[in-house]
Amino acid sequence: MSRQFIISLDQGTTSSRALLVDHEGKIQGMVQREFKQIFPKSGWVEHDPMEILSSQMQVLQELLDKEKVRPSEILAIGITNQRETTVVWDKNSGEPVYNAIVWQDKRTANICEHLKKSGLKEHVQKTTGLVIDSYFSGTKVKWILDNVEGVKKKAADGDLLMGTIDSWLVWNMTKEHNHYTDYTNASRTMIYDIVNLKWDDKMLKALGIPKSMLPEVKPSAAHFGDYEYKNVKIPISGIAGDQQAALFGQACFKKGTAKNTYGTGCFMLMNTGEEPQFSKNGLLTTIAYGLNGKVNYALEGSIFIAGAAIQWLRDGMELITHAEETEKLANSIEGENSVYVVPAFAGLGAPYWDMYARGAIFGLTRDTGKAHIAKATLEALAYQTKDILKAMEDDSRIQLKNLRVDGGACANDYLMQFQADILDSEVHRPEVIESTAMGAAFLAGIQVGLWEQSDIDQNRPMNHIFKPTFDRVKRKRLYKKWQKAVERCKGWEEEE
Ligand code: ADP
Repeated sequence: MSRQFIISLDQGTTSSRALLVDHEGKIQGMVQREFKQIFPKSGWVEHDPMEILSSQMQVLQELLDKEKVRPSEILAIGITNQRETTVVWDKNSGEPVYNAIVWQDKRTANICEHLKKSGLKEHVQKTTGLVIDSYFSGTKVKWILDNVEGVKKKAADGDLLMGTIDSWLVWNMTKEHNHYTDYTNASRTMIYDIVNLKWDDKMLKALGIPKSMLPEVKPSAAHFGDYEYKNVKIPISGIAGDQQAALFGQACFKKGTAKNTYGTGCFMLMNTGEEPQFSKNGLLTTIAYGLNGKVNYALEGSIFIAGAAIQWLRDGMELITHAEETEKLANSIEGENSVYVVPAFAGLGAPYWDMYARGAIFGLTRDTGKAHIAKATLEALAYQTKDILKAMEDDSRIQLKNLRVDGGACANDYLMQFQADILDSEVHRPEVIESTAMGAAFLAGIQVGLWEQSDIDQNRPMNHIFKPTFDRVKRKRLYKKWQKAVERCKGWEEEE
């Protein structure tokens, strides 16, 4: 049988990667290239769209050369991308009119304040599922239209296009310059109606964005056009924003399945089924994926300080030299830890939302040593995850089925076991933790008929399933103490 591959293009915030995935869903090769981060002012973050494109095309080419892949062996290409980052370009010349404004960029905070004052808060939540924030694409487009010379007129004349990174790549990779995006990326723009699946006129008007700039929105598995390689047309057939791709890559297809990525911060998404659920706890409602004529929704929450707290143990406190030492330290303490660390270094996010909170260590006694602090810091990641999952369950009235994990810190067995214990839910750690890239590959492979959705769940070997061991009383007692610790951190800084 001839070889058959799916290519996954993973366009991330700091690097572009290309992965070769075989018909069994195994990764056979990967090439990665970092690109420049541009910081023109405090709080501003930009990327050069041309460099994003060239780095992505280079890693693709290098991968095919390195793995000696013939064009006819590639069935399809899937794309996953850093979300919200926005490009505006001239459709005649193909030139961007400004650098890409990255999701982390805060320059549009005042535009957001203005939107809030115009009374759009409720409309934004009920329509786009989001909270008004500079994070999302809409205000970034407005900033470019308002601040780059001559651009507003060109936009009004219909000469400019906007897109998230997936759109920018597809427009450049297809001969016909297809201007498309998928539901997941559209749902991060703050101008897309996730209930009725259409661009939202009210938000477009509020931000002064002409409709002619917008891409057509397609399901996440769809034909986005063909990439021609050595005279062979290869379909681009899957697109999803990175966190949604990870959810899909973790096969979270059922209501109540969730994934958590334990990186510097944590990104958590729970599939809530075919109806959008709106949060009372400040969580985001977003499209998980569009597939087979249906849309699945997710609730999303993030933790600002997760792996970053482990970095603090290493670089700030100098208690450890490597992150993985925390596991041994935690295991060196028998029984329950009476110490709690609340890493509210920059305030508290969901579900507490207190920017005046600051971190603290509680429960110190004469015998407290660094092992207790390390153990408590790991446990803080698990408690924060529980806080968000509890809010998700409360918002959606859907009970968590199990938690699927990835990201650097999921390698820590102590953390994963404690997570299962405190959630009272299984924690599934797959063999392949490249969930994001795999999600894009799965979407593309499903669209071209290589796989069925059910194959994906069945063919994901598990590295370990952590089963809960705490009884109800113990679980409640420990969690209550965490909540007490969090309460005491609130409002530490004075409000101005
Ligand atoms: P990012 O993509 O945000 O850079 P990664 O997924 O690479 O993050 O994960 C790195 C983070 O995970 C770091 O903050 C690091 O401190 C933490 N980490 C890595 N390995 C471990 C471990 N074995 N135990 C605890 N934390 C870890």
